[in-house]
Amino acid sequence: MNPNNNFFDTNIAFSRGIGEQRALLLSKEMGIHSYRDLLQYYPYRYDDRTTLHALSNLSHDTDTILIKGKILNMKLEGEGSKKRLTATFSDGSGAMELVWFRSISWHQKNLRYQIEYLVFGKPTYFNGKWSLTHPDIAPLIPGQNPVFRLTPVYSIPEKLRKKHIDSRVIYKAVEYILEKGYALIPETLPASLITKYRLFPKKDAIYHIHLPANSEYLHQAKRRLKFEELFYNQLQLIKNKFFHKNKLPGAVFSDFSLVREFYLHHLPFQLTAAQVRVLKEIKQDLQSGVQMNRLLQGDVGSGKTIVAFIAALMAVSNQFQVCLMAPTEILAEQHFKNFEKLAGKMGIKVGILVGATRKKQREILHKGLREGDIHIVIGTHALIEDEVRFKNLGLCIIDEQHRFGVAQRAKLQEKSEGYKPHILVMTATPIPRTLAMTLYGDLDQSEIDELPPGRKPVVTIHRNDKHRSSVFGFIREQLNAGRQIYLVYPLIEESEKSDLKDLMDGYESISRAFPDVPLSIVHGKMKPQDKAYEMNRFVRNETKILVATTVIEVGVDVPNASVMVIENAERFGLAQLHQLRGRVGRGADQAYCILMTSYKLSADTRKRIDTMCRTQNGFEIAQVDLELRGPGDLMGTQQSGTIELKVANLAVDGAILKEARASAYEILEKDPELAQPEHQMIRGHLTYLGDDATNWSRIG
Ligand code: ADP
Ligand code: MG
Repeated sequence: MNPNNNFFDTNIAFSRGIGEQRALLLSKEMGIHSYRDLLQYYPYRYDDRTTLHALSNLSHDTDTILIKGKILNMKLEGEGSKKRLTATFSDGSGAMELVWFRSISWHQKNLRYQIEYLVFGKPTYFNGKWSLTHPDIAPLIPGQNPVFRLTPVYSIPEKLRKKHIDSRVIYKAVEYILEKGYALIPETLPASLITKYRLFPKKDAIYHIHLPANSEYLHQAKRRLKFEELFYNQLQLIKNKFFHKNKLPGAVFSDFSLVREFYLHHLPFQLTAAQVRVLKEIKQDLQSGVQMNRLLQGDVGSGKTIVAFIAALMAVSNQFQVCLMAPTEILAEQHFKNFEKLAGKMGIKVGILVGATRKKQREILHKGLREGDIHIVIGTHALIEDEVRFKNLGLCIIDEQHRFGVAQRAKLQEKSEGYKPHILVMTATPIPRTLAMTLYGDLDQSEIDELPPGRKPVVTIHRNDKHRSSVFGFIREQLNAGRQIYLVYPLIEESEKSDLKDLMDGYESISRAFPDVPLSIVHGKMKPQDKAYEMNRFVRNETKILVATTVIEVGVDVPNASVMVIENAERFGLAQLHQLRGRVGRGADQAYCILMTSYKLSADTRKRIDTMCRTQNGFEIAQVDLELRGPGDLMGTQQSGTIELKVANLAVDGAILKEARASAYEILEKDPELAQPEHQMIRGHLTYLGDDATNWSRIG
């Protein structure tokens, strides 16, 4: 719908059965002002009214039923809140009860014995009788054949339902707009794509998403709208990517002497083939004269840190500075230690800046960065603050990107004069390919798909509270063999008192069960120096069991710790469980992960636990996580806006996404500016959608 098509701008009040009062409510409560808005308000499910059922052969696996018949009698029953109107309803083959607890007098007054009704609802069976509570009931109009179809169900706020604006009202209004406007709905995809992928034209898609002729039409309507949504989403991302490639020069790195020196004298282990490959990809970017925008994916423990460090050496070798941003202080400190250990021998200066850094220290650091005396700085969000300026920042590494917003990524790039720094984004745990494509479709992607050699799979088992004594027995065995143990409690909100109590109770029961074993305890309520002290005792093998909250999720590397016991595992997300398990299995010994839960589990929890026991592949786990939680939750609220798709579902629409992405690529490769005549429509529609569209299948 281009702006000339003002039919779709018509105020919703003019549609059938709406009027000014209802229009006001729709506009205020649902943001629906115009015909266009209403057409873009898709049903969230459909009632199957395609077939008429017979009361004589209802079965217990019938979900919903549609019955044609007459009311034989009505009576009032019960008292107070149990007061109800009951009607016996017969279709000639059998009888059932219709029951109303609300609007009793209205129904008493309006229902008739003589006329035929269509009733629809979900039947229940009780005391040898079928019944429908609050059925959807409508009189058959003599001489008119009823339409048997899938009927749209729209989600309607309570406030509107109280004013009798229900799905049927919306349905009637939509039907009216489609009667008048169907032919006016403009196409928003080029004919070539519609032909190639056999897609519904836009107007048919809009029509059948509301009023599907049958389930195949509905499927095709959805497929078309999903395709369109993903196509424009990808088009925007790929266009940005091409823009960066063509328009944003990057510093050319040509000197790699520090990298050579590191390989020759300081490399702590042989790199895996995957690490070598991604380093080559990074190096190519850095030599290309174009700003690098690369996403590095790799499973927990796949060795991303050393890759980040070597990339940093490439920058420092060329007199450029590097900043590495991590999502938490613990992680920043861990990176700082690692980097300092590796860099110290080569005369490279590394600094750290976190929220807790003292003012004095901060000023020294700021000066060092401005004057170029500090080569690499590692930190948290504190790095984004305005006071932080660089002499010449050449590379930004962002670890665990998903906790950062896109805006923050942009802000980091403004920290230096001249060329924009190269950007390397690293994920903490893998994210499913569909998500990576929609979230990071504007970045080039590298993957470390191999773990360092010698890692044995972690044996993962599920136990419930009844098995506690045998779990303790196992811990004892492992302790006797010289191993160390992690015992983790959930502490989602650091302020939650009951969580802290759980942890303390757990600590006490462990102390009683292992009176002779030195323990450490670490939780978020402790002072940083106390935490560090306790952690270090465990790292030095002075304590054998570490009782902790998820503060150990990231950052600790104790090869001798071979058992991870996770208490209340049902309260952890999959990504978190996978991260935690990644803490063990780093040494030569067989490692174990024991997931403790209560006896009764919800279906979702069972799936999470089963997935953990079945596989250790981070990509596979991420996919299940996506299916269970949806993309918004997976990435945290900060970024969910970027991937809030209206019709497509990234958990299941991977195939459509692939086609949409390939199409977008193909078009932009031939015509990056969308200047050719046959691409005018795409260009216009993309402009209409704007930069931050959240509905990529809009009508236009
Ligand atoms: P992550 O990808 O989760 O950040 P790290 O970079 O922390 O993983 O690496 C995990 C562990 O594996 C570290 O102890 C690291 O020193 C070790 N490591 C990384 N690469 C190799 C390799 N090629 N060979 C042996 N050990 C490696
Ligand atoms: Mg890491």
